[in-house]
Amino acid sequence: MTDIKKNSTTETEGSISNSHGSHDYLEPVKTEWSIDELKIAHKFSIRNQASVQDSVLCGCFYCLEIYSPAILTEADLRAENDGMKTYWCPHCGIDSVIGNQSGFPITPEFLTKMYSYYFW
Ligand SMILES: [Zn+2]
Repeated sequence: MTDIKKNSTTETEGSISNSHGSHDYLEPVKTEWSIDELKIAHKFSIRNQASVQDSVLCGCFYCLEIYSPAILTEADLRAENDGMKTYWCPHCGIDSVIGNQSGFPITPEFLTKMYSYYFW
């Protein structure tokens, strides 16, 4: 039987700044990225043929679609002027595809961060 007893909490409410203390678990997913990190991530959206092909998941930070690199074809690749190839998003036709091989999480939160930095 679980008997949930209320500890007599005498915390003072009202202090709005509560940046520390209320969570004693490790954050499972990173949700904040510095501008420098976003810039690093952006490099993986260009000349990213190998990176995307080595990924199990990729996402587009323009249309925010998340999909398997397996759906990408030769037709989605375009050569840069140095011969390296970039995947263009098959959903929106923008070169803003990043694979998880980049080390960045392919999540709506991350893609939205990238979108707001590069497209807003
Ligand atoms: Zn897209």
